[in-house]
Amino acid sequence: MRQSIMDAPGKIRFLDVPVAPPAPDEVQIRVRQIGICGSDIHVWHGHHPFTPYPVIQGHEFMGVVAAVGAAVVDPPAIGANVTALPQIVCGTCNPCRKGRFNICENLKVRGFQADGCGREFYNVPADRLVPLPEAFSLDQGAFVEPVAVAVHACSRAGDLSGRNVVVLGAGTIGNLIAQVAKARGAGSVLITDVAPHRLEVARRSGVDHAADVRRTTLADAARGAFGPAGFDLAFEAAGAEASLASAVAAIEKGGTILIVGVYGKPPTVDMAVVGEHEVVLAGSMMYWKEDWLEAVRLLDGKIDIRPLVSRHFDFADWSDAYRYIDSNGAEIMKVMVDVG
Ligand SMILES: [Zn+2]
Ligand SMILES: [Zn+2]
Repeated sequence: MRQSIMDAPGKIRFLDVPVAPPAPDEVQIRVRQIGICGSDIHVWHGHHPFTPYPVIQGHEFMGVVAAVGAAVVDPPAIGANVTALPQIVCGTCNPCRKGRFNICENLKVRGFQADGCGREFYNVPADRLVPLPEAFSLDQGAFVEPVAVAVHACSRAGDLSGRNVVVLGAGTIGNLIAQVAKARGAGSVLITDVAPHRLEVARRSGVDHAADVRRTTLADAARGAFGPAGFDLAFEAAGAEASLASAVAAIEKGGTILIVGVYGKPPTVDMAVVGEHEVVLAGSMMYWKEDWLEAVRLLDGKIDIRPLVSRHFDFADWSDAYRYIDSNGAEIMKVMVDVG
């Protein structure tokens, strides 16, 4: 089979390797399509602090069941559509013992600290497998992982019904958070960015309000969107200090800000305002399996990912996909790699 490998930043090559049979507790997946995300791009540039090289990339994907290990209980049908969680957790640390596997002290993520799905056949433990509807497109299947990130972030915020929500950052994750929040009953959602293309994609995705925060302030945009009611929940998905600072300043007293973005350098936050306004700052990190199952349900009719797919590349042209992303910046949302 063909298997990709990134030997060093910016250097992907392809090997011809034998197909490994699944272990007794594993399922073998024939990988069909892989999505590229922001973290993958950091690895391509050598800017991902926790990824050693060489690495087999790929953690957002759809495939079909090719073989099943002898000890798998409830074996999936050969040919069934599937995807799989990339987390490898220890099961024994304090967070794991509390069921919070996503923040395992010894977490490894396939595609970063362990081998990912950038190959024609990929073996995963059966308990990581997530079945997908037969009618799912390859794009829908490859979107389960990022939608699960959005589902987990929304779950961390509690009940969303009727609430006014701000999402800062209209990249793929911000867009999906806005869509998941709506699907979970949020009253009105305002999304902000500095890239007109991303705001346009958000509008096409059905987000209620989209504001360019180069032209207006968050506070003014929120007044325009929500009137005097304001907002008491924000998701910071831009990973930018100015964005976080604007949320802290504009959110209703007692409001909650979920931190979803990744910050290149530690942001400065006005903790006096956080303290006096009883603002809750809460983190959100990847997802649980339950989030994946809900992501599948939402992708089955409640969330539209079609406006987010920018372009497809052949497996052999994975490097070109990165070059395309590099040269098109904020004009790009999700780029897909077609494996087979
Ligand atoms: Zn990702
Ligand atoms: Zn653990």
